[in-house]
Amino acid sequence: MARYTGPVCKLCRREAQKLFLKGDKCLTDKCPVERRPYPPGEHGRSRRKESEYYIQLREKQKAKRIYGVLERQFRNYYELAAKRKGVTGENLLQILESRLDNTIYRIGFASSRAMARQDVRHGHIAVNGRRVDIPSFRVKPGDIITVIGDVARIKEAAESVNKAAVPSWLDVDYENLTAKVVGVPSRQDIDVPVQEKLIVELYSK
Ligand code: SF4
Repeated sequence: MARYTGPVCKLCRREAQKLFLKGDKCLTDKCPVERRPYPPGEHGRSRRKESEYYIQLREKQKAKRIYGVLERQFRNYYELAAKRKGVTGENLLQILESRLDNTIYRIGFASSRAMARQDVRHGHIAVNGRRVDIPSFRVKPGDIITVIGDVARIKEAAESVNKAAVPSWLDVDYENLTAKVVGVPSRQDIDVPVQEKLIVELYSK
């Protein structure tokens, strides 16, 4: 399946929920979900009977859209999560959170995961001194993340970051645009509006 290249706001409207895919615009009254909080299309406002399968499916789609992950990779993450000790749903979110693009977003070096993904792809990010241009690269405790070069967009994002929102598993030095991974994301650190239990139920069928 090819990556979705259509209007991302439609993805939020499909879930009738803000998924925060567009950075600063999401915090303004220009957000289409604020004005039209129902799915797009002719039948968007009609009431439909929601089966258990439908609810589980929507939860999975939502998680995929938030993290910008395609079906196959998402399924692989689920299988990896199921093999790990602990609660599969929490393991799944932990794996998604540890992606380098998500980490850059969480640090506040980008205003959305899509921007973070672009910065990684364009080679602006190094982990432990080596350039990493793979957005799905997973960070681990002890890793040091640095910015390569003088990237105005990253500087700008870092200047306006809400430091209180940076999760405790990341220790960031905004002066030098570096960050250290000091732990693993716990469920409390992960503020995505996803009920991971429903995703596990869907894949366990
Ligand atoms: Fe668009 Fe952001 Fe609003 Fe989603 S939350 S509809 S991405 S502006």
